[in-house]
Amino acid sequence: MSATLISNARIFDGVSVVSECGYVLIQSGCISQVSLREPLSPPADCTVVDATGYTLLPGLIDAHVHVYQDVQLLETAIQYGVTTVLDMHNEREWFKAINAITRQRNDVSDVKSCCFGATIKNGWPSAIIKLVSPDKDVEDRISKWPNLTDSKSVEEYIAQNMAAGATFTKLMQEDGHTMTLPFPEQPVPTPSLELQKAIVDASHDKGMLAVAHALTNHSTLQVLRAGVDGLTHASIDPINEQIVEAFKKNNAFVIPTLAVHASCSGEEQETRDKFATSLHGAEKEHLLGCLHITSDKFSIKSVYEQVYTLKEAGIDVLCGTDTATDLLGTRAGASVHHELWMYVNRCRFTPLEALVSATSKIAERFRLQDRGRIREGLLADLLLVSGDPAKSIEAIRNVKMVWRNGEAVVNN
Ligand SMILES: [Zn+2]
Repeated sequence: MSATLISNARIFDGVSVVSECGYVLIQSGCISQVSLREPLSPPADCTVVDATGYTLLPGLIDAHVHVYQDVQLLETAIQYGVTTVLDMHNEREWFKAINAITRQRNDVSDVKSCCFGATIKNGWPSAIIKLVSPDKDVEDRISKWPNLTDSKSVEEYIAQNMAAGATFTKLMQEDGHTMTLPFPEQPVPTPSLELQKAIVDASHDKGMLAVAHALTNHSTLQVLRAGVDGLTHASIDPINEQIVEAFKKNNAFVIPTLAVHASCSGEEQETRDKFATSLHGAEKEHLLGCLHITSDKFSIKSVYEQVYTLKEAGIDVLCGTDTATDLLGTRAGASVHHELWMYVNRCRFTPLEALVSATSKIAERFRLQDRGRIREGLLADLLLVSGDPAKSIEAIRNVKMVWRNGEAVVNN
């Protein structure tokens, strides 16, 4: 692959805007040189991109998606500048196949996965999957999911996930009571605190992060007590001091997933509209649709306050959407732009804070040391947009070019 020199670009390095007119040289798939002022001279056979008026950023990361076997989700995400996604529950065999594809192709987002979540019999998410897809194949597949009961089953589960390529563990703490769905068992069975602790400890023993699904303050406190490193949703309950303190105690992060919260509560229809303008037909309808499964007692406004308060208290916020191809109200890539827009316009983030949440902060917390910043030696996973998203987050939508492993895979 020949070298590429991006010249005259405003550079957001993942943490701050470090140059108004800088130079980045890409060689052999990596960022080989960064100059914040002095022009770099292009080596022989080098493609030069004049980025005057454009901003160069690290490729965006979506910290909560469901890939399953869906290569198209990855092809779509990268068109929006999302070069990595974190997959939050998948069949081991499906992830292995997806992982092989992302190693061969640069025109898809890279994926890191937890493989199977830490599931128990009839617990989350099998309860909801059986409701929405009540067919025999799905039933058969779910019957092979982990049925965690004790520390021996937990150890086997972690070992098998790691063998399939899992790099973190996801716990489930969900009894379904905030949803207006006819689950066969109400409440949906949840793991004991002792079991959740065993899952966290076994993950930490193997050097893996443990993150957890929880939607309420009660469930959030439960998994933080078990020792998790982060929450894969913000709670829909009003924020209180106990929650803030519990996050601080674990130095835990939160992945808000406002995109899916808005779909569940049936709110933000007009802003989904705005982010669906470039779409047509079924894709547009899908993003404009919503699940509307949250009980009317809850409003997303409380989630905005939860996220704002946690951020103000110094808790790390990592951009994530819960995008899945079959999940109404979400769409790969577009939902990341929507999510960032909501951080700024609903949760009072500065545009810079929003950009950090989708780049360096995720890389740092998920220990992805090869990406998330513009720095010499890191992967050349980059996004070029017109305008200045550090001043106006809307500019993140003006995708001009995307590189993955140094290859220009989007050029609009
Ligand atoms: Zn999810």
